[in-house]
Order: sequence, then structure tokens, then C-alpha cells
Amino acid sequence: PILRADPQPDDAEAEARALRPQSLDDFTGQAEARANLRVFIEAARRRGQAMDHLLLYGPPGLGKTTLAQIVARELGVNFRMTSGPVIAKAGDLAAVLTNLEPRDVLFIDEIHRLSPVVEEILYPAMEDFELDLVIGEGPAARTVRIDLAPFTLIGATTRLGLLTTPLRDRFGIPTRLEFYTHDELALIVGRAARMMGLTAEADGVTEIARRARGTPRIAGRLLRRVADFALVETEGRLTRALADRALERLGVDHLGLDGADRRYLGTIAEHYGGGPVGVETMAAALSEARDAIEEVIEPFLMQAGLVARTPRGRMLTRGAWRHLGLTPPKSAEQ
Ligand code: ADP
Repeated sequence: PILRADPQPDDAEAEARALRPQSLDDFTGQAEARANLRVFIEAARRRGQAMDHLLLYGPPGLGKTTLAQIVARELGVNFRMTSGPVIAKAGDLAAVLTNLEPRDVLFIDEIHRLSPVVEEILYPAMEDFELDLVIGEGPAARTVRIDLAPFTLIGATTRLGLLTTPLRDRFGIPTRLEFYTHDELALIVGRAARMMGLTAEADGVTEIARRARGTPRIAGRLLRRVADFALVETEGRLTRALADRALERLGVDHLGLDGADRRYLGTIAEHYGGGPVGVETMAAALSEARDAIEEVIEPFLMQAGLVARTPRGRMLTRGAWRHLGLTPPKSAEQ
């Protein structure tokens, strides 16, 4: 289906849904984005108009979908959700747009993956709330213009660079989401742990928060696995020792790196002398999609100061060598 009512289709765990913050006040972290959104939401409400279009960008799992839902709820309007790859034809998008009620929020995830034809339709819709549809073919073809209800488009993307300039320019409110601090993640993990009925010790919560790669989705996933261990081994008590043991067993190291991260670092170290190495080469060496490397693996490794991006390719930093327990070759020392 092109439109989904369910905001979290790939995460079957209803639990995760229940833990989603429901209001801006509930939403931990992203202080700057939240402060701005609060103003824009309030202004739109006072004017009784649709809020300007909002573009949320940043690595996966930082809360783009969650924030979009919250914006709709705070505006007091319907939330409609779809995603770039799902809208194959212009007609698909037209169907979605013509079904919106005044001031509704339409959320398009992975908006960088819209096809060019569909994007063309979106421009006048965003700008003038108008739809130009071509009916028929050949010499008999004609264009009809359809008026749309004013709406707010919220686009989400992990790859701002892949958005076309005309599309990017049509968003009045571009907002970048940042990795979360350990303290912010600890608040999120602590609350979730209590909602799951665990006896959460502060040290245990912190241990998970520190190893969650700055990402609430990962924090939630780690917590659910650690909770399994807590249930079986400590009668539901989330202690530091338990968290450490469980995360170790899951292959998550003390910086929060998992097998894929370590394989990435290890490959640069062992096969490319610490770099520089191009992303295409890395994709081939790891048998991973280039997109996955650039969207999922690299942002956190760069943020953590383990990998640097240079014009000639990726390079390990001293910190990465240290983390791997290896000595950098002389040529890699700068
Ligand atoms: P994105 O759309 O950026 O990939 P989501 O909005 O789907 O991320 O969030 C991923 C998961 O993390 C969801 O389960 C959501 O409930 C949780 N989450 C995200 N941000 C927060 C936050 N600030 N506080 C609590 N949980 C959050």
C-alpha cells in the first residue's frame, strides 16, 4: 500500500511503539530542533494555517518519524505516511495528495528516493497546493489542474546530499537531527526500562546508553536484548555487570561498535594500511551496499573520531588503531 497507517512497519515489536514519545515535551534530546518546532507549531496554530514544509535529515534511528508524528499531533491534524520508493507513479502521489484534509501532515520517508516524475508533481503541490495532471496520451493529452487542501509535507532523509536542489529549496524548515549524548540516551533507556517492568539501576542504564552509538533505535534494541538476560539471569534487575555481560555476548564492544563496524575498521587497517581507501573499494571488500556503508556504518564512526573522510578516501585515526589494539604502520602516522 502507498499509504500506511502504521508508522513502524519494520519493527514488529509493539513494545517499541508503546515506548515512542507522544509529545514534544516527552521527546528527549534534539533541544534545538524541538525549540524551533515548538515556535513553528504554535505560529501555525494561531494563524489557523498549515505549517511550512519540514525536512528532517540525519542518520537512521534518531527520531525523524517519531518527531513527524509528534508535529502532527501537536498541530491537531491527521498524520499520513508514505515513502519515496513506494510512490512509483505520478498518479500514486496524486491519490495521496487529493485525499489530504486541510492542514494535514504528509510524511514521506526516504524522500531522496522519489522518482524524478513524481518529484515534478510535488513541486507545485508544495508551492501552490496545486496538482497538474496529464490526462490521456499523444495529441489528445491535456492537463488538468486540481486544487489541493493546504498541507504540511514532512520529508525525512538519511542523505541530504542526494536530494535535488529544487526539492530541498521547497522546504521552509530544514532541520538536522544530531546523535544523542550519553546522558540523553540514559534518560530514554531508563524510562523505557521502567516501562518494561525492569528494576533499572543507574549504572546498568548508563552502560546501555554508552554503547548505543548515539542512537535511540539502537538503545531500544540493546535494551530489549539485555532485558531478556535480566529476566533469565537476575530476576529483572538491570545492573551494570548484567548489561556488560549481555552486550559482550551480543558482540557490542565498549564503544558500542558491533561486528559490522569492527569489520569495516579491520579491513581498512589490515588490507589498506589504514587508508585512504575509497568507499566503492570498501563496499566491494565488505560485500556491503555502498549506501549501507555511508548511511549506517560511517556516520557514527566519524562522529566517534575513528574514521576521517579525506579527498582521497577514508582513513583510520589513531583512536581507531588504538581501539583495534593494533599499531599503525609508519606511513599512517601523521
Ligand atoms: P528515524 O525515523 O529517524 O529512523 P524513528 O523515529 O523511527 O527514527 O525512531 C527510532 C526508534 O527510536 C523508535 O522506536 C522511537 O520510539 C525511538 N526514539 C527516537 N527518538 C527518541 C527520543 N527522542 N526519545 C525516545 N525514543 C526515541
